[in-house]
Amino acid sequence: MTKHYLLTPGPVPVPPEIALKEALPVFHHRTGEFAAVYGDIAKGLKYIFQTENEVYALASSGTGAMEATVANLLSPGDRIIVASCGIFGCRWIEIAREYGMEVVSVSVEWGKAVKPAEIEKALRENPNVKAVYTTFVETSTGVANDIKTIGEIVSKTNAVLVVDAISGLVGQEFRADEWKVDAMVSASQKGFMLAPGLAFIMLSDKAWKLVENSKLPKFYFDVRKYKKFYAVSETPFTPPITLIVALQESIRLIRKKGLENIWNECGLLAKAARSGMKALGLELFGEAPCEVVTSALVPVEIGVEIVETLREKYGVSIAGGQGDLKGKIIRFAHMGYIGKADLLVGFTCLEMVLIELGMKIEKGKAAAAVEKVLLEAM
Ligand code: PMP
Repeated sequence: MTKHYLLTPGPVPVPPEIALKEALPVFHHRTGEFAAVYGDIAKGLKYIFQTENEVYALASSGTGAMEATVANLLSPGDRIIVASCGIFGCRWIEIAREYGMEVVSVSVEWGKAVKPAEIEKALRENPNVKAVYTTFVETSTGVANDIKTIGEIVSKTNAVLVVDAISGLVGQEFRADEWKVDAMVSASQKGFMLAPGLAFIMLSDKAWKLVENSKLPKFYFDVRKYKKFYAVSETPFTPPITLIVALQESIRLIRKKGLENIWNECGLLAKAARSGMKALGLELFGEAPCEVVTSALVPVEIGVEIVETLREKYGVSIAGGQGDLKGKIIRFAHMGYIGKADLLVGFTCLEMVLIELGMKIEKGKAAAAVEKVLLEAM
């Protein structure tokens, strides 16, 4: 029997405290018992999103909440800007085009961060734009975008800023209100340390004005229904009760540790992971590296094999590249329940696999580099 180490940028391992809650018997959702839980998580989600706006939980993966921001904010023929720098930024384009939106694409090469000045220029050239869609942490490359600066720019226009914070939230500093974010989505399987299946959506007053005028079709993801039921601590449809109960525990754990401490810890793990990659002779991939996943270039001949061998031989799961980056990079996550010891195990096994696959690496270097960074922070 192999012990498994899930070191992928979502899903991440579920801590036992949360897993136990996921195992509790299901109860009915039109009850005071459920309302008490939902009311409590409503407060917790405001803390995690750093917002005074309401945050709704949807039974879907993160993409469902992304789609909900399109269906609820826009109307046929609307023009939007999508600032993308990887697969998940491109997903905004795919969803918007499916709904018949006119997309002004402000994309950069994968591995780079989106350029706030280009968004500013696109807004000047397209004064009728309804919304700017972008990504906080672009998980496919490991790049973090400067949402604070983008928020400053978009807030001076009539457009709303919509951010996919599916990966970065909890692990890396994010302040929805202070950074003037109007709509934002996240999901359960990353920083929240829950099983997949729950998504979140937050809307500001400026975004609600668009919702009131939106003419795109929607039913299950109509946020007006969620708002109405939120007022009585309920959801319009049968919620994933098990995940909601587990979310209450996740929020309790996050509050206990404190967001700032979590941000600092992920920052330290990111520093250690970058050092580990360099010790393996791997070049870091991407400018503006985020703090929840570290990407590095690998020799293409063994790119896919590294990830497979690591999982099959050692039970260690990391992620490879997606789309055009398949086989070219590896991605090592350090968010949620992934900790210092996981990093030491992961990098030691990664080093063994690279040696087995023919790379010339001095034994023990990766773990030593990771350990050095961790010890220096003590
Ligand atoms: N956006 C980002 C930044 C992501 O990391 C992911 C998941 N990897 C998604 C969107 C899609 O989320 P889901 O798979 O939960 O639909």
